[in-house]
Amino acid sequence: MSEQIYDLIVIGAGPGGYVAAIRAAQLGFSVAVVEKRATLGGVCLNEGCIPSKSLLESSEHFSRIHHELAEHGIEVSGARLDLQKMMARKEAIVTKLTGGIAGLFKKNKIVSITGQAELLPGDGSLRQVKVTHEDGSQQLSAKAILLATGSEAIELPHLQFNGQTVINARDALSLTDVPKRLLVVGGGVIGLELGSVWSRLGAEVTVVEMLPQIIPQADPQVAQTLQRSLKKQGLKIMVKTRLDKIETTADGVLATLTTPKGEQQVTCDKVLVATGRRAQTAGLGLESVGLQTTKQGQLEVDENYQTAVPGIYAIGDLAPGPMLAHKASEEGVVFAERLAGQKSTFNYQVIPSVTYTWPEVATVGKNEAELKMENIPYKSGKFFFAANGRALCTGMSEGFVKVLADPESGRIHGIHIVGPQASELIAEATTVMSFAGSTHDLATICHAHPTLAEALKEAALAVNKEAIHA
Ligand SMILES: Cc1cc2nc3c(=O)[nH]c(=O)nc-3n(C[C@H](O)[C@H](O)[C@H](O)COP(=O)(O)OP(=O)(O)OC[C@H]3O[C@@H](n4cnc5c(N)ncnc54)[C@H](O)[C@@H]3O)c2cc1C
Repeated sequence: MSEQIYDLIVIGAGPGGYVAAIRAAQLGFSVAVVEKRATLGGVCLNEGCIPSKSLLESSEHFSRIHHELAEHGIEVSGARLDLQKMMARKEAIVTKLTGGIAGLFKKNKIVSITGQAELLPGDGSLRQVKVTHEDGSQQLSAKAILLATGSEAIELPHLQFNGQTVINARDALSLTDVPKRLLVVGGGVIGLELGSVWSRLGAEVTVVEMLPQIIPQADPQVAQTLQRSLKKQGLKIMVKTRLDKIETTADGVLATLTTPKGEQQVTCDKVLVATGRRAQTAGLGLESVGLQTTKQGQLEVDENYQTAVPGIYAIGDLAPGPMLAHKASEEGVVFAERLAGQKSTFNYQVIPSVTYTWPEVATVGKNEAELKMENIPYKSGKFFFAANGRALCTGMSEGFVKVLADPESGRIHGIHIVGPQASELIAEATTVMSFAGSTHDLATICHAHPTLAEALKEAALAVNKEAIHA
């Protein structure tokens, strides 16, 4: 029997790889996917977006019962945490979703292979991959190879993960007890989300961030509002602070910090290191095909997502751009369609980004700091949820919507939200910006009343000082 030659082999079944595989199969390509972990879905489904959002949702319910229901006239007593059940719920969601992808692969006749993939030197127009698995190894051939191997947590030399006292995000999603004192290193999205989970469940949480603001890529006013709110919830946030070393003592882990006021020490039970992620390329055999990574460890690609080596492509966290699941998936679709000869494109200027803390932060387009740095003229309009009827009814009225737009044309440069349901509201902002919309467009859309989305319309009106309720 002759060896099967696939049209496409995808390495990595995260939101980049699995979406690319499905779209390519829909377009008529024969596709095999190689994934080294036992389940499909990559970091996002197994140890990222989904499990973190499950725990954020559960912990928010727990926190609300204790801190907010009384305001609604609901007295609850005896509420207690069953962490094992909360974790089991999270696992069930992950299992359902990863199993769902396996079903989609079957439906689309995608061959799914479990094993570690390594690129082999090319042979003419065909590309070869060696797959090592429990039962040995096999060799696969294809006309094209898509690398979608994603990323992994960065380990700092003085903070090596040990799964017990120094942990990464994966460990923090599966703790079996609530730590009494948790020190989070890194005030970015992952650190703040997981810090919020454990704070809501009872841990004393301290977050240290080296830069002057948390979520460094966010609009500065938005970041300040979130920081104030997190402090009110009991998280201690220290910006412009660096963790220099840790020592194990009888009382736990002693961390030495450099703060703007000098050296300070904090004792904790666990240190969660969330200082960023780096592309995953170890053992992939990039050298054997002549591929080199950038300083950031990623692979440069052209508009077809082809790397410097013809027939080898890269998307997702492995390719430049924000490390986000939806960015990876969009690239997967556009990659497959361009492989099929279509002229699909992806607008990198309009990628939403969300932090699922309370309040949530959601942003799309440029923020004020970026506009100032790039000397782009802009006008700003802001509307506070405290003046929004629906927000008051829900009891969640912290935060605001900020619209930044060109002073002449009104074309929107960016929309930044900190407040309730920001993760859902950002879809409207993204839609308007995707169609190159202006403040006039957003302000003249009829919004249902009472909704949180009315704050978007009012913020667009506020750009020209025409907000009705401000
Ligand atoms: C705690 C946490 C929360 C997050 N929350 C969000 C969120 O809310 N929203 C959001 O947009 N993003 C979020 N992210 C980021 C998101 O998970 C990533 O951006 C996304 O998963 C990247 O997708 P990908 O397809 O590029 O790679 P990945 O999801 O990393 O998948 C790559 C896959 O490739 C496999 N692989 C690697 N090397 C090989 C090899 N040699 N052979 C075979 N298989 C291999 C890996 O096992 C992995 O399964 C979060 C991340 C973390 C850690």
